[in-house]
Amino acid sequence: MFSKILIANRGEIALRVIRAAREMGIASVAVHSTADSDAMHVRMADEAICIGPPPGGQSYLSVPNIISACEITGAEAIHPGYGFLSENANFVQIVEDHGLKFIGPSAEHIRVMGDKIAAKDTMKTLGVPCVPGSDGGVPDLESARRIGAEIGYPVIVKAAAGGGGRGMKLARSATEIDRAFQTARSEAKAAFGNDEVYLEKYLGKPRHIEVQIFGDGKGRAVHLGERDCSLQRRHQKVLEEAPGPAIDPETRARIGETCAKAVGEMGYEGAGTIEFLYEDGEFYFIEMNTRLQVEHPVTEAIFGVDLVAEQIRVAAGEPMSFRQENLKVRGHAIEVRINAEKLPNFAPSPGRITQYHAPGGLGVRMDSALYDGYRIPPFYDSLIAKLIVHGPDRPAALARLNRALGELIVDGVDTTVPLFHALLQEPDVLSGAYDIHWLERWLESQG
Ligand code: ADP
Repeated sequence: MFSKILIANRGEIALRVIRAAREMGIASVAVHSTADSDAMHVRMADEAICIGPPPGGQSYLSVPNIISACEITGAEAIHPGYGFLSENANFVQIVEDHGLKFIGPSAEHIRVMGDKIAAKDTMKTLGVPCVPGSDGGVPDLESARRIGAEIGYPVIVKAAAGGGGRGMKLARSATEIDRAFQTARSEAKAAFGNDEVYLEKYLGKPRHIEVQIFGDGKGRAVHLGERDCSLQRRHQKVLEEAPGPAIDPETRARIGETCAKAVGEMGYEGAGTIEFLYEDGEFYFIEMNTRLQVEHPVTEAIFGVDLVAEQIRVAAGEPMSFRQENLKVRGHAIEVRINAEKLPNFAPSPGRITQYHAPGGLGVRMDSALYDGYRIPPFYDSLIAKLIVHGPDRPAALARLNRALGELIVDGVDTTVPLFHALLQEPDVLSGAYDIHWLERWLESQG
């Protein structure tokens, strides 16, 4: 086992990894920008090292500075968290070239899954059902028009290098394809430095269902059921739950086994998520995330596992402790993402926390890097806390969420907490009857 690991991240996810490491008797190294000198992850880690000025590009994304921090502190492995360098295949290669261990999949697997066209090809070959669409990239406008007509409208133009909900454009009919193709292409070029795009059938009322998988890198893999992340704003998840309200045990076993078999055949190592759109009883693969996800705690809650500890164990060369036959769903879990944002426009609201009180009690988990007097810097993501509740069934989890939200105090900045209070009044949310477009429609109806 490692004796010391470095966490190349900040905020709640850095804390999450530090906590797992400490329970395993592993020392942790926090890295931070000058804007984060007072951050919780810096205080909680065994050691901390400043890696640069506030902008992410000069600190949390600076590969030389992170590698140097490992060399100075003697850390043997790097946990990337999510975001930042977590899905950067070049980074993984450099980490390995320095004789360090990246806690996650191989550079090759990250590279293939980071290109959504290659990812779709790979999954298709491995027997995973995909959204109907272009066979690979669409090189020019003429092809886009032809393929659009073949697939049938509406279609969605997506960036091969896309992520974070960016670089996607809808064409409702043939008259919109020229514009959708050209804007998707130029946005993809600007955002990702790669203008390759592809076409997919646009699904009108799907749910976002993702399957958590875990592999030992040697061909053995398991699935840990699904999460329903259909409540989204601008293609960004707002609330996630597990199990999915629309998925029965047989469906779970069927799609789960397909996914576990696929990643087993790949020889995939560590945690990963295979994302699907689910409509009329059919699954359509959209992408694979080769990392731990923000919403992993809902899976941990219902399966009673520690995904981060398992990532570290497998990265250290120990056998995977998960066995499919022992992974049983217990109860229901819901996570809400609390952002420092001002409603109704979700404008970032950084600033000083004047009062903070976290909810507690049975079945409540608060993953947050907040504390009284903390100043949220304006340079990073606005996620400040994840509130996760677990109960014996969905109604119990909803009641617990309502109760826990009522206990939470975050003063000094605006947050998205009022959104969740309002959502818990909505019959569709209470019954679980929502698709990926529900939240946008609801927000519009609120004016
Ligand atoms: P990203 O990598 O940017 O997150 P994804 O491919 O995972 O992109 O898609 C993000 C979200 O966009 C999905 O959860 C869904 O809401 C929407 N979306 C993507 N593809 C389609 C599609 N073919 N039809 C309808 N909605 C889609």
